[in-house]
Amino acid sequence: MDLWVPLRRWAAETGAGTLRCVAPPPSPAFALVNTNGDFVFRVHTRVANWNGLDLQLGFAPQWTNGQIYVHSLDLRKNVDPLINPSLRPVASHRIIVLDPGHGGISAGTPSVLGRGHEKDYTLDWAFRLSELLAAQGWQVFLTRTNDCGISLSNRVAFAEAHRADLFLSLHFNSAAPDRTQAGLETYCLTPRGMPSNLLRTAEDDASLSFINNQFDAANLQLAAQLHRSLLRINGQHDRGVRHARFLGVLRGQNRPAVLIEGGYLSNPYEARRIADPAYRQLLAQAVAEALPAPGLESGPLKLLKEPISH
Ligand SMILES: [Zn+2]
Repeated sequence: MDLWVPLRRWAAETGAGTLRCVAPPPSPAFALVNTNGDFVFRVHTRVANWNGLDLQLGFAPQWTNGQIYVHSLDLRKNVDPLINPSLRPVASHRIIVLDPGHGGISAGTPSVLGRGHEKDYTLDWAFRLSELLAAQGWQVFLTRTNDCGISLSNRVAFAEAHRADLFLSLHFNSAAPDRTQAGLETYCLTPRGMPSNLLRTAEDDASLSFINNQFDAANLQLAAQLHRSLLRINGQHDRGVRHARFLGVLRGQNRPAVLIEGGYLSNPYEARRIADPAYRQLLAQAVAEALPAPGLESGPLKLLKEPISH
């Protein structure tokens, strides 16, 4: 496959749908209209939109000779799994490991309100979620159930030891000293060959491949499903489904794995919400609703298609 593919030709050849122009030049945008929904691509920007949720592509679509071109890796890794959700392997056990981020001396980000830390809020979110998932029939394990520190590699080893089918790491965000940044982000591991959407250091070696990369499609399906559900409780600033390569807690996972940033503790409005147990209960409910109960769902991940109210 060529590196850059004319979207119109790809859509026609693969039967992925029809292409509709939704914004004219100089900033053209096109919707790929598929039976499962609309995928909107904007020329020269990495932010695409799948049925109302933002998704960060690996490469900004290009505009050549009056045509939109999308990178073949994006088509394979970011578009195909969503418009054409492949069957997930049926797990014999339905075990989920929840990972409340940070703990112990790793307090995570402090709340801009001056009291409370990420580690306390992630643990409470995990407890609430654990209860809901257990009631849905999941077997749930938490990487920590108190204020203790655990290395990232031990969080991965914990999931392995408990033979987890899914791994979910829970965090809250910070853009300090910027108090304006707000919204939800959902991360999965960057597919090989693709640049990440978030770098912690300058290093982002796209040639690297990790054990979790075998779940690229399931990671993205899971991330999109969780993110869509979460947007219903905090959708004003959709920061989108994103890929990162440096997240040690994800890349060593031998199972689909996702990390959620449930809002900004550096933003006074969101910090107030996060400090409210009712908001953390809503976060837990949103995640639980996105995870089909074992036994009721044995095929593809259920796609939530309800409209998002902002
Ligand atoms: Zn964190």
